[in-house]
Amino acid sequence: MNTESSLPDPCTDQSSPTSSYIGRFAPSPSGPLHFGSLVSALASYLDAKANSGQWLVRMDDIDPPREISGAADTILQQLQQHGLHWDGPVLYQSQRSTAYLSVLEQLQKAGLAYPCQCTRQQLKENGGIHHGRCEIQDPSAPSALRLSVVDPHQISFNDIFQGFQQQDIKLQVGDMVLHRKDNLFAYQLAVVIDDAYQKITHVIRGSDLLDSTPRQIYLQQKLKLPTPIYGHIPVAINDHGQKLSKQNLAVAIDNKTAQNNLAIAIRWLRLPLPNSLASTNNLTHCDELLTWAIEHWQRELVPPLLERLASN
Ligand code: GLU
Repeated sequence: MNTESSLPDPCTDQSSPTSSYIGRFAPSPSGPLHFGSLVSALASYLDAKANSGQWLVRMDDIDPPREISGAADTILQQLQQHGLHWDGPVLYQSQRSTAYLSVLEQLQKAGLAYPCQCTRQQLKENGGIHHGRCEIQDPSAPSALRLSVVDPHQISFNDIFQGFQQQDIKLQVGDMVLHRKDNLFAYQLAVVIDDAYQKITHVIRGSDLLDSTPRQIYLQQKLKLPTPIYGHIPVAINDHGQKLSKQNLAVAIDNKTAQNNLAIAIRWLRLPLPNSLASTNNLTHCDELLTWAIEHWQRELVPPLLERLASN
């Protein structure tokens, strides 16, 4: 029996797209935008607009313990101040629980997901990789829900910026968590359901998420959802070689210097922004910078490797 044929199509209730390219920026509200996240937002915006596409913003707010109150609104404000205006309404993952639960239920019914109560320590003993069903010690205690990784589990894709990528999900990842013991939905589950729901055709994001992509493709295949085209831009790192993230306290970008932030981000993506436009003495508007960048956007210029921000 092909158990997967009974899986739902989580996209049934979405409106029809008006353009064949739909991109998105999906920040987590764990803090305001910093330079690294501005670069990711800008790259996904430019790639969408240079291809006459739509650019959506989705708030990945499914992890309340990691969220900072007010950060979602601050991020939206920062995007607006930098001229990065999105198409359509913002989708909040915190309002999508019904869709996630319905997919989890169907996966379980189809025998593709199972409960697990393994501790971190038990997982560590297996090199962090969970293979196959485990025994439920206490049915009344909280459990996580894991995806059963079955054949074929070798996933490959061509990344726009990083080239050919391949990962064996069974060997390198194992049965991944879809719903956590603490009752939170896993990022991998929510992102796959929502990218399909929003009919995303192109995912342009930071290379820190490159490792997650084969897991997402695997899950898309299990759910019979389309796989978008992926492009991972190099993540901006600081002088100490750390990724600029809210966790390592990368400074929030200042709305007061929006033009300058944007000019630096455009050059970070290696677009040859002329000095006449980049100069802070010049009253160039963010919109002018973005118009120039859309016209000059070239995927080939973006370097695939991690580079230091220090050069800016
Ligand atoms: N919300 C994730 C983050 O801020 C990004 C999700 C994605 O682009 O898939 O790291």
